[in-house]
Amino acid sequence: MAAKNMEELVSLCKRRGFIFQSGEIYGGLQGLYDFGPLGVELKNNLKQAWWSSMVYERDDVEGLDASILTKPAVLQHSGHEDTFTDPLVDCKSCNSRWRADHIGGKSCPKCGSKELTKPRPFNLMFKTNLGPVDDGSSFAYLRPETAQQIFTNFKNIVDSTSRSLPFGIAQIGKAFRNEVTPRNFIFRVREFEQMELEFFVNKGDDEKWHEYWVEKRLCWWEKQGVSRSKLKEHVVPAEDLSHYSKKTIDIMYEFPHGFEELEGIANRTDFDLGSHTKNQGDLNIGAAIKENTDSVSRLAIQDVETKEWSVPYVIEPSAGVERGLLAVLNEAYSVEKIGENKERTVLSLAPHLSPIKAAIIPLKRNNEDIVRIAKEVKVELQGLGLGRVLLENTGNIGKSYRKHDEIGTPICITIDFDTLENKTITIRNRDTMLQTKANISEAQKILKDLLVKQ
Ligand code: ATP
Repeated sequence: MAAKNMEELVSLCKRRGFIFQSGEIYGGLQGLYDFGPLGVELKNNLKQAWWSSMVYERDDVEGLDASILTKPAVLQHSGHEDTFTDPLVDCKSCNSRWRADHIGGKSCPKCGSKELTKPRPFNLMFKTNLGPVDDGSSFAYLRPETAQQIFTNFKNIVDSTSRSLPFGIAQIGKAFRNEVTPRNFIFRVREFEQMELEFFVNKGDDEKWHEYWVEKRLCWWEKQGVSRSKLKEHVVPAEDLSHYSKKTIDIMYEFPHGFEELEGIANRTDFDLGSHTKNQGDLNIGAAIKENTDSVSRLAIQDVETKEWSVPYVIEPSAGVERGLLAVLNEAYSVEKIGENKERTVLSLAPHLSPIKAAIIPLKRNNEDIVRIAKEVKVELQGLGLGRVLLENTGNIGKSYRKHDEIGTPICITIDFDTLENKTITIRNRDTMLQTKANISEAQKILKDLLVKQ
């Protein structure tokens, strides 16, 4: 199942409070979005699922949360100042701007004119001024990827955790790119979040680890409800590789607008640590790096036996949170026929991703006893710490079911007169729409069974 088109998803996201255009009351700003009450939960859940699988479920990865504002030297030595560019063309007829690689350099998608300027490089990094004087003498970049501060913290982390190869550093956080043509809802935006792992390995083991991470990441996306049939591995052709990459495999997903990159998995070789390290000449670095006389840190690892220093290779799985959200929403979305002339919209999200884990619905909104018990169940289930549990006291049970189908709540728990009489509750399943009775004392177990991995 999937949405018929992007408009269906955009409409659901706005109607139910997942995603809004940023600055909408002032006409909005292109390429920027705000995440509403349900969007923030879904986003947090997706990030938590990534963090759990990358950090908690492994013993060879450490976490990091580095600053967004980045010292220019970092992005100078990483190569971003010189090469983090897109080829830009202007239409001479209507003055619109396009990415040459997106339009194939032929004609203007807006007015059809073939009068386009020659492509010129446009740097995608945002700059901002530091301190009170705005004369360009003191500025920082808003990081265009989370990776670089992982590399600059390499020695801090090795020294403080006594790690040896292979091991990884994971980070989730905002990244900023001044995209020429933001488009396709949250697919291509100017402010987004990345979930990045830099996995450090010995040279020679890099290809094996690259394959390992591609498979691992495909499996993870499947666990988030993305069907394998909509995922494709794309080996990036040599001429399109980033300056640091020996090989990149993109995981492509069939978004409503077509197959596009969901995650990139790159073999970054010893380029990054090699570019940021001091004493480059002593370290036998293979990548084509530029001289660095600014760094004060040796970003290398000493072999315990041979005592030789070497610069690790890096395998990087880098996924976008917004693209992940779009894929997960698209996969979960369906409009089902129920009965003769009725249909329902349902988001069959994996329960661990659902913004609301359970809705507690009192059958009568004004019955004090029923509402009191409903509140007690809400508090009890919320206390499990498994995510948001919502008391839904609208008095209209049919409407509540429809709403919770549409926002992906896996179960609704109804408190009714039977609860007062014999302590039973009604559990209504989102996917099957079946209603079953259970004793109120089983509520915790039911929610745990739904959410806690065995
Ligand atoms: P594209 O070719 O689509 O511009 P990219 O190859 O530049 O993407 P990477 O630099 O590999 O992207 O970034 C890693 C991940 O970050 C991407 O797979 C994507 O999920 C996410 N990402 C990159 N740019 C954007 C953006 N402008 N908006 C939303 N997500 C993005």
